[in-house]
Amino acid sequence: MPQRSRLPSVDKVLNAASVKRVARDRGLAMVKRAVRELQSELRANGDLPDWATDPDGYAAPLEARLTVVLGRGLVRVFNLTGTIIHTNLGRATISRAMAEAGLEAALHPTNLEFDLSVGRRGDRDSLIEPLLCELTGAEAATVVNNNAAAVLLTLNTFGFDRNVPVSRGELIEIGGSFRMPDIMERAGCRVREVGTTNRTHLEDFEAAIDADTGLLIKVHPSNYHIEGFTREVGTSDLAKLAQRHGLPLVVDLGSGALVDLKRFGLPHEPTAAETIAKGADLVTFSGDKLLGAVQAGLIVGKAELIRQIKANPLKRALRVDKITLGILRHTLTLYQEPERLAEELPLIRTLARKPQELEALAQRVSEIFSAHLSADFSVDTTASECQIGSGALPDQRLPSFAVRLRHEKDSALTSLQGKLRDLPMPVIGRLQDGALLFDMRTLDDEAALAENLARLMP
Ligand SMILES: *Cc1c(COP(=O)(O)O)cnc(C)c1O
Repeated sequence: MPQRSRLPSVDKVLNAASVKRVARDRGLAMVKRAVRELQSELRANGDLPDWATDPDGYAAPLEARLTVVLGRGLVRVFNLTGTIIHTNLGRATISRAMAEAGLEAALHPTNLEFDLSVGRRGDRDSLIEPLLCELTGAEAATVVNNNAAAVLLTLNTFGFDRNVPVSRGELIEIGGSFRMPDIMERAGCRVREVGTTNRTHLEDFEAAIDADTGLLIKVHPSNYHIEGFTREVGTSDLAKLAQRHGLPLVVDLGSGALVDLKRFGLPHEPTAAETIAKGADLVTFSGDKLLGAVQAGLIVGKAELIRQIKANPLKRALRVDKITLGILRHTLTLYQEPERLAEELPLIRTLARKPQELEALAQRVSEIFSAHLSADFSVDTTASECQIGSGALPDQRLPSFAVRLRHEKDSALTSLQGKLRDLPMPVIGRLQDGALLFDMRTLDDEAALAENLARLMP
């Protein structure tokens, strides 16, 4: 009898307990297809490996195959890179209480767009508008999918088929393909570059304004900072100029702090409230950068302008869902008591951690690493510096501590990085000066890291 007839039927394989577990994780149809492919390859190869005749033997090869096809999915990782708001690792994280505020909206029908006081259709923005007005001093507010959408929508509402002067020093590109000139063009604006890369004067704007100008815009340069012979036009001056010409001044803050970060020992970053107070008519900022909530783009400002933005058909295409609104409302409620943010808002908690705490943590974590690495790795701790990330305070560093791994061979460090990425909860550090560093500022679950690293041992 030829060997291949000893292969179990597809149904038998699918009924094996271990394969059922794979199917629960990966989906039955994907597993069924993979079993068929695997068996047809086995038939073509001739020689059968031992596992091929045992239905339970298929779980591991199926898992490996489906990991290639499907990837690992969205898995929790340890961001020990030293970049706090790491775009590639999901930016800000929220607390369980914040997540639950969104979960409630997902689990049950809600009054998302239903005004309970009159029993008629309502406006989803009303869930967060009064809170944003309280925190920023603006007259009105609306929210869209992210800050890129907020900028696009605002520009499209006031600058479509109009001239829009913008400083050459503010035509920025931020990571992940957001380029201001491209967004402006897609919003239908005719970009009018003014000034130079390093210096832009009020007169440059003044000279660029004509009958076809739709708005003035000021953009936070986010991830870069030029020093030396530089000049930018401040919000107050630009606001006065805009007002004289009856144009709205839009300020894209990017990160958009809602409270003064000095409170947490950080340098000052312009807040939305200050920007409104300086005369900006509209201010846009992200929900998941310095605000520390979830992906969203907030627009605050003059009531009449917000009304026009909300009447733009693109608003419907860019609106946020109920989960986001639930979380934002909860977050904005927390912001009314800034003293408590360091306890209740994970991002602020991370920013406010003290170096002494991080030094002790680094010491404990270095012992965990030592216990699970071969003796040829040298493990110690070192003072380090964190960056905030996502274009917030680009040249500011926060003092921190890191666990440092060194090895005679660079290749050993690279291969360890790969093993750390293969863990159930991948551990991501950074290579610096020939050492592998794991920054402690963003480590908030020491026990989970320990449990996870315990699987490193071969
Ligand atoms: C980050 C940023 C954006 C884009 O915000 P997202 O929330 O990533 O869409 C726009 N403008 C500036 C100045 C930024 O820093």
